Amino acid sequence: MTVGKAAVIARRVYGRLRFPPMAISFPDNFLWGTATAAHQVEGGNWNNDWWVWEHTPGSGCAEPSGDACDHFWRYPQDIALLADLGFGAYRFSLEWSRIEPAEGEFSRNALDHYRRMIDTCHENDVVPVVTYHHFTSPIWASLAGGWEAPESADRFARFCEVAAGHLGDVVGIHCTLNEPNVVALMGHYLGVFPPGKRDEGAMDKAIYNLIRAHRLGYEAIKAGPGRAPVGMTLSMHEFAVEPGGESQMARARDRMEDVWLEECRGDDYVGVQTYTRLRFGPDGILGPADGVPALQMGYEYWPQALETTIRRASAVTGAPILVTENGIGTADDAQRIQYVTEALQGVRRCIDDGIDVRGYFYWSMLDNFEWALGYRPTFGLVAVDRETQARTVKPSARWLGEIARRNRLET
Ligand code: BGC
Repeated sequence: MTVGKAAVIARRVYGRLRFPPMAISFPDNFLWGTATAAHQVEGGNWNNDWWVWEHTPGSGCAEPSGDACDHFWRYPQDIALLADLGFGAYRFSLEWSRIEPAEGEFSRNALDHYRRMIDTCHENDVVPVVTYHHFTSPIWASLAGGWEAPESADRFARFCEVAAGHLGDVVGIHCTLNEPNVVALMGHYLGVFPPGKRDEGAMDKAIYNLIRAHRLGYEAIKAGPGRAPVGMTLSMHEFAVEPGGESQMARARDRMEDVWLEECRGDDYVGVQTYTRLRFGPDGILGPADGVPALQMGYEYWPQALETTIRRASAVTGAPILVTENGIGTADDAQRIQYVTEALQGVRRCIDDGIDVRGYFYWSMLDNFEWALGYRPTFGLVAVDRETQARTVKPSARWLGEIARRNRLET
């Protein structure tokens, strides 16, 4: 037989072969969810420090949050939609400025509102994961010194006590603080979040008080009704270093992650929130490496960071891991599917190595208010029309919902 004939036969035989898709399963009771935060989706949160910041000339904010996604009123449809897509958990946050609009004055209406949200989750067989602080503080608290004030931790703990007292019996998982490491850095050292400071001393005070706030909040929630797990969530990165950048990297990793992770030892879980990697050179953080795509946020497409950070969080804390946020801001929904596929493959490798990973929450359910960058970055599984508030389900939402339903990823 000539080589040409052999090639024709080989094409006929192998061309018909279809390899079965590779499937990776996840442990029983693995939680599949999506996440949002009050200020990014509710709309009309005019009584908090972020609203003031968005309207402060020179703050660098792209636009105000305005009506956001009107989720304050549309949550019943939104929760029903995510349940319908296949998700079994929903992480959202309480807006402190609604619940305690003035110091020591608590709104029964606001507490009832969040209780109805939690009830709606249960009616849809969705586990409610409730965050007590996701970046925003009431105006009265920021005027009283914000996180630099020594009383800030006690103020937060009092809020946790009241909120958990009202909601604790129905909450599925409690999360005290969302990414306090970002609040300390961005607000007090980089000046891009409120209160807009660029002062290392201010950041150190904020770190001290936020850590104390987590501890006191944790105890206040534990003392309340219900027995749901309590933890906090941290922003984490894979760290990479170019020659000469070692000390910069070590310093950043210590202040940004290690001091916080050490605080999570002994908690019921640690929430890992990872989007990308950070590269360091002799002068600090570097931009995206050659050949690595840059995303809407300006950082690298680097889904493998999730595996790295889960391993680190687990090694340092010994606590069970919940991936409370992972996602990608992109206009290309196929790229979103690719990113999550690669991230989930990493999650499975961690589980194979015996790490106790209990769930994965995609950030975010909706395209929403991305803080200083406004509505331009699109992280959502569901698009939101800014004029009509109409929701449009993206293919990635159906794809990930199906993975959630089957507890299995096929690649
Ligand atoms: C925050 C979210 C934010 C997301 C995407 C996380 O740092 O918790 O509020 O929208 O990252 O940037």
